Amino acid sequence: MNKTNQSTTINLYDLTFDELTQFLRDLNEPPFRARQIWEWLYRHYAPDFASMTNLPQTLRQKLAATATLHIGQIVASLHAKDGQTKKILIRLPDGQYIETVLMRYEKRRTLCISTQAGCAMDCVFCATGQMGFFRNLSSGEIVAQVMHFARELATTGEHVTNIVMMGMGEPLHNYHNTLSALDRLTDPNGFNLGARKITISTVGLVPAIRRYADEQRQTPLAVSLHAATDEERNKLIPINRRWPLAELMDACRYYVEKTKRRLTFEWALIEGENDTIEQAQALGRLVQGMLCHVNLIPLNPTAGYKGGPSSRERVAAFQAELARYGITSTVRVRRGIDIQAGCGQLRDRVIGQDLSK
Ligand code: SAH
Repeated sequence: MNKTNQSTTINLYDLTFDELTQFLRDLNEPPFRARQIWEWLYRHYAPDFASMTNLPQTLRQKLAATATLHIGQIVASLHAKDGQTKKILIRLPDGQYIETVLMRYEKRRTLCISTQAGCAMDCVFCATGQMGFFRNLSSGEIVAQVMHFARELATTGEHVTNIVMMGMGEPLHNYHNTLSALDRLTDPNGFNLGARKITISTVGLVPAIRRYADEQRQTPLAVSLHAATDEERNKLIPINRRWPLAELMDACRYYVEKTKRRLTFEWALIEGENDTIEQAQALGRLVQGMLCHVNLIPLNPTAGYKGGPSSRERVAAFQAELARYGITSTVRVRRGIDIQAGCGQLRDRVIGQDLSK
């Protein structure tokens, strides 16, 4: 069970199936009730206990008195002009804020979820990094973000098809709760999303990458590289001083070797900073021959960082240079720019205007 849940009532999303079974045993309920409730939570996305109609009224009342399914309060909800992107800001019971984004793209319904309130990694261009670290999310708080949108999508016959852990926080800095949430979301008897449909994105915590590789999970990993020399990466990503590129690349190669899975590198292109041909060549040398793919994303400007996105021409030149090294890359469209859908930006805006009351 998570230690970060500070309320006295239990949030059922925080429990594994075995813990739920034990919880019901403590309420003198038979184990089959756990199976029923699990289905209400992860197959029907029940919003409350009252709607769990195959449970006796007395049990529903008992549950309402001792447990909750509450994620927090949705204090802002924004739709991008593209009509395909929606972002919510959630105020957790202890007053912390997190963000979750839904992106529709053709048949995909991708959620970008948070794993921490704030972030301790201090990446200079990242809105969450700029706000600092508040706390880890419990596994239930991670899972509940997904259930919120699963419930909403179900009203129009849609469902969550993909998840990226690219919201607020560093997933591997909250290792246990993130992986516990992953187990919950992929449980064949529950939400049953394919492990391959969930991407974990990391700033590059070397020991955690190795530990994750050893677990040999199907869940893809993305590493936020953003620079291919220590000199440049130190400027953008302070954690690089702790685990410089040589160590990071060793861990990345270890991951590919162990899992036989293709690794994704994330690269936010910042005009005149890390979008030079020299950086493209350094990246080419760094990852040449490795089973990998590079995602190029023109920077989302943030309040605390003066850099801007690379022009279309510079993005194209960078990509062409990578191709010379045989490295495949995709330029990702910046979605929801008008609703501050970049990492941590909605919280900035809402708190900045003090709409939190
Ligand atoms: N902490 C994790 C996941 C959260 S951020 C990580 O570092 O990977 C998800 C991705 O968005 C990361 O690649 C991150 O570097 C990138 N990112 C953060 N701020 C950005 C910005 N302003 N513009 C473009 N990408 C950004």
